[in-house]
Amino acid sequence: MADSSEILAGLDPDQAVAVTAPAGPLCILAGAGTGKTRAITHRIAHRVRSGQVRAQHVLAVTFTARAAAEMRERLGRLGADGVQARTFHAAALRQVRYFAPRLFSGRDMPELLDSKARLVGAAATRAGLRTDREVARDLASEIEWAKASLVEPDDYAAAASKAMREPPLDAAKVAQVYAHYERLKRAQGVIDFEDMIRAAIWAVEEHPDVAEQVRAQYRHFVVDEYQDVNPMQQRLLDAWLGGREDLTVVGDASQTIYSFTGASASYLVDFKRRHPAATVVRLVRDYRSTPQVVGLANAVISRARGDLSRLRLELVGQRPAGPEPTVRIFADEPEEAAAVAARCAELIAGGTPAREIAILFRVNAQSEVYQEALAEAGVPYVLHGTERFFDRVEVREAMFALRAYRGEPADGLVPTVHAALERVGWRPDAAPAGGAQRERWESVAALVALAEGMPTLSLEEFHAELARRAALQHVPTVEGVTLSSLHSAKGLEWDAVFLVGLAEGTLPVIHARTPDAVEEERRLLYVGVTRARHTLWLSHASARTPGGRSRRPSRFVPSSAPSAQAVRKPLDKAAVAGRVRRVMAVSCRVCGAGLVNGAERKLGRCATCPSDLDEELLARLVDWRARLAAVQKVPAFVIFTDV
Ligand code: ATP
Ligand code: MG
Repeated sequence: MADSSEILAGLDPDQAVAVTAPAGPLCILAGAGTGKTRAITHRIAHRVRSGQVRAQHVLAVTFTARAAAEMRERLGRLGADGVQARTFHAAALRQVRYFAPRLFSGRDMPELLDSKARLVGAAATRAGLRTDREVARDLASEIEWAKASLVEPDDYAAAASKAMREPPLDAAKVAQVYAHYERLKRAQGVIDFEDMIRAAIWAVEEHPDVAEQVRAQYRHFVVDEYQDVNPMQQRLLDAWLGGREDLTVVGDASQTIYSFTGASASYLVDFKRRHPAATVVRLVRDYRSTPQVVGLANAVISRARGDLSRLRLELVGQRPAGPEPTVRIFADEPEEAAAVAARCAELIAGGTPAREIAILFRVNAQSEVYQEALAEAGVPYVLHGTERFFDRVEVREAMFALRAYRGEPADGLVPTVHAALERVGWRPDAAPAGGAQRERWESVAALVALAEGMPTLSLEEFHAELARRAALQHVPTVEGVTLSSLHSAKGLEWDAVFLVGLAEGTLPVIHARTPDAVEEERRLLYVGVTRARHTLWLSHASARTPGGRSRRPSRFVPSSAPSAQAVRKPLDKAAVAGRVRRVMAVSCRVCGAGLVNGAERKLGRCATCPSDLDEELLARLVDWRARLAAVQKVPAFVIFTDV
């Protein structure tokens, strides 16, 4: 077990500042791969081990059960067992269950819906609409957005128009379906995921005795991926805090890709305003990717516009050099897919495990052609993030069995996923030989494999995680090249990443019509690029089918590989020390593209447009020079102006 000094060792200087910052509001603005989880887990452990806080008084929240379980494991290793690390959902669920008798007049918590689609379909029928499955699903997403944004049916139309939503049906009709859906739910005595969070909010806001108990329990809060918080979750956080300020948030505005679900980076952006006493720490050293990948990531995001681009951070690669990212253009999609499959086969033959390779695309429909090409090339693959998996009957049945299971704890370890599934007839050693039966067995086996990858989750938490994935259309990963949408790839990493189909109309996707929507698409590419540790490939096909209509490459892909402009071979420290005063690596936030002129006396003005640079940017420049002089490894992509 680590002692306090070990907790501080192995941190870089900025991480150390974050870890040791005094109690009170702390905002860590951190780029992809900069060790956010490391910083927050070490902070918690440091505070617990040095006696500043008690483990049981800390609540760490994040957005996936996988991230929460990882946090618990790391905290355990750092000697801070007993800290609660949960998803918003799991924390809310636990709280609502615990207080249920007080909240629901002595009754248990109402049953939680796995999916809205069926009830939304019924609600649409009540509203006199004929909808197919796709429309029902889009309506369900729209209702989810409204609820996460704290918008009631009556206010839906106005709110949707203000948020520039493009609802699947006329807004007044959506509002009607939403209202019917709420009524149907009440009539059936069930609640959905948003209701559960609402119940947790209501429990604290309306019940002083509950509030007192909850606030006595939780005194120190940590939120990971804070850019993903939605108004409903923020309100729950505020309810828990009750005006107190011992809150650490970590976020990366450049990875905000869930705005369409109601997530709002404004809480991250405005953190300092909401908490004027806050300490703000920035992490920019990237420990995940090669400098070549980092260089491209910086190039992609440097052209960001709009509010969030203010919080953009220039990453500094810390890993040894790797191959340049490949940018390829093909005649048509089958040709592109065949080339990607062939390259995957080469990588695997060269020793890269298939599970360390991912092919990422913008829309799920793009995956078909890759499935075909991989099958043709004999490369195993797994689908990640398609809705089909959770729509399968056997998966729905298995989830039902998990929810319904109230079995006796086996051997005293907690009721297991295995035990629950065996109860409904699934046997790990009884795989049918083939056909549809085999397929069904495989689906359940994938659930079991998923559960095994999260050994610290209780059955209840595992079920909640499945329901969340079903809602987000995440799929468990087994051995094979991962095929995933960019959205589902968030937070994950692979040695080799293929970003495919990077054409106008696909990225940005055709329905991204507002400037904000286009910026979100740019951030999606940034998230995609930063998933790669080592090998990165970007490609685009000029036409969908052979001889088909031609399309332009995505505007977000830099027209030339970053190598020419931004990636230089690493230099040694001595060589840099003499030139460090002339190092510039920041682009002007007004004109975006322009590098800031490096001469010391010219600081304060952009070289390519007439803007004055703001203080924050200047502070970063000064900080960069100091840091460059101090670090052993020189970031490879930093641009040196000529002496
Ligand atoms: P994302 O934004 O993609 O979620 P992240 O900021 O959460 O990324 P992590 O996944 O926590 O980044 O860290 C990336 C990798 O860098 C991890 O493998 C982590 O162990 C490693 N790492 C973090 N800090 C350091 C450090 N100071 N020294 C060495 N490795 C580090
Ligand atoms: Mg992370």
